[in-house]
Formats: sequence, C-alpha cells, structure tokens
Amino acid sequence: MTSIVVLGSTNMDLVVYVPRAPALGETVTGRSFRTVPGGKGANQAVAAARAGGEVAMIGAVGADGFGTQLRATLEHCAVDTDLLRTSEGPSGTAHVVVDDEGGNAIVVVPGANGTVTSLTHGDEALIGTADTLLLQLELPLSVVVEGAVTARRLGVRTVLTPAPTQALPPELLAATDLLVPNEHEAAALTGLTDPREAAQALLRDVPEVVVTLGAAGSLYAVRGAEPVAVPAPRVRAVDTTGAGDTFVGALAVALGEGRPAPEALAWAQTAAALSVRREGASTSMPYRVEIEAAFRSPDSLEANAV
Ligand code: ATP
Repeated sequence: MTSIVVLGSTNMDLVVYVPRAPALGETVTGRSFRTVPGGKGANQAVAAARAGGEVAMIGAVGADGFGTQLRATLEHCAVDTDLLRTSEGPSGTAHVVVDDEGGNAIVVVPGANGTVTSLTHGDEALIGTADTLLLQLELPLSVVVEGAVTARRLGVRTVLTPAPTQALPPELLAATDLLVPNEHEAAALTGLTDPREAAQALLRDVPEVVVTLGAAGSLYAVRGAEPVAVPAPRVRAVDTTGAGDTFVGALAVALGEGRPAPEALAWAQTAAALSVRREGASTSMPYRVEIEAAFRSPDSLEANAV
C-alpha cells in the first residue's frame, strides 16, 4: 500500500450563510451555521486515505473541543494521528462568510498550526518510512522547508501545494519533486497568466509540475517535454470546495502505486470529479472503490453532466 505522510494544517471551518456579507460595524442575521473539519493538510490526508493510501499526519490541533473533533475526524478516516500534537491554546480556525451569490470572505486564524515550527526525531523517522510527503503552506514556512529538505535527504518524494500563495524560498523549491499549483497560484508564482507558460517557467526550479485548471482538468509538465493537457471528466458540479485537495491526495496514491503520470492524473481527476458532485470538502471525498468504478467506466460519471 502506498505510504503517505502529510505535514500540514488542521482547521475547523466555521461557516455562516448570510443574504449578504456585513460591512465593518454592521450586524446582519445569518441563515445558518455549520462547522466543517478542514485545513489543507487534513483534507489531503483524508483524500489520500480514502483513495487507498496508508496515511499519517504531522501537525497540531489545539487543546479545545475543535481539536478533539479534528483528531477524531482524521482517525475515523483511518489516518494515523500518533504524531499529531495537541498544543496549548485554540485549534486553527477558518471563519467563512458565504453570501447568497456564493461569494465568500474568509479569515484564517492559524492557532495550533502556528506552533508547529520544527520537526521532532519521531517526525523524521516517520517521514523516512513514507513513499511520499505531502506539503502545503498553512504551517510556518520554516517547518515546511525542514520537512521538504528532510524528505529529500531520506529519498522520499515531495509534493508541494503552494497554497495559500506566497513566495517560495529557493531551498524549498530545490527539495520539491512535484509542484501542484492551481492556475491562479501558478500565475502568482510566475507572473504568467498562460498556464503552459507558467508551467514551463516553474520547471526551471522543480522537475515536475501539475497545474490544475478546475473543470478544464490539468496540465502535466516535465522537463524536456511539451506540457500535456489532461481533460477532466464532465460532471454536474455542486460544490468544488476541496477539489484541489482531493486531487492531490489521490494523485499521491496513484503515483505511489507506480502508475505513469498521465494515468495517475486521470485517476486523480476522476476522484476530484466525484468530489465536486457532492457538498462539502472532506465529506465529499470519494472512496477507492468509487474512484476505480468511475475510472473504469467514465460514461457513468459523465452521464448526469449538464
Ligand atoms: P479548491 O480550492 O476548490 O479545492 P483548487 O483551486 O485547488 O480547488 P481546481 O483547479 O479548481 O483546484 O480543481 C482541482 C481539480 O479538481 C481539477 O484539476 C479537476 O480535476 C477537478 N475539478 C475541479 N472542478 C471541477 C469541475 N467543475 N468538474 C470536474 N472536475 C473538476
């Protein structure tokens, strides 16, 4: 079984649905409220576990009720949380206001995620047992760099999702095997709005790049070859939240199983397409049996497309 370690964030998303977002100083009455376990790290861990990977998570939850829930959610999805710390203070939270137009405003408070500033010997030993280390940018940059450099030294494949967007230090790029930006992140990192040109530019720093393009699929670029476009299955999208994390989690599993990159991308896109047909982020992520069935007969997946 593919063994994956995620070094990343856990957040409780606190989502309010409102007719319109309040201006500063204003109070509005919301329609409804829900709490949703999330964080890019935890989402990728759940996606990879459901896609059939053996997954362990390094990060931190707070010493509060959200922390208990976040840990329980990961464990329920068979993610190993032995090295998920419980730090003093609150868990990471994302405060999300969604208006009737589907627009949103988000405030993220890192909380416990901000306390993960370096790796322990145990973390290093765990990373050394993995095929792949998944990284994002919701933990302090110092530990993300340390994770990538450690994995590189131990011969473990590193996959970096450069979100939320920020400048990437050269030592992080130098230790990244596969960079997976969405098209906005690719443009922000390179200043190039054409995803092909952006992918080519990113190849100067990393050997492999996948730019995700939403409903249009993704672009696979490797040094020395023309970028390959991999179209996504056509589905009726209900909620695309977490599509990117579903894609990365499933991609890590497929690559770890030795599937060639274009096939691994198509498999991961099948997983992401299944997830956008359902509401929620981690709650919408498909299980391996669903991914396999839809991958074998894409017609079944596309049958209900508009
Ligand atoms: P998010 O932030 O919503 O989680 P993202 O911006 O990181 O996503 P996207 O490029 O939007 O990433 O989507 C990732 C992958 O999910 C795409 O490459 C595609 O395979 C799949 N996907 C996203 N939206 C759709 C859609 N409407 N129909 C089919 N597949 C989709």
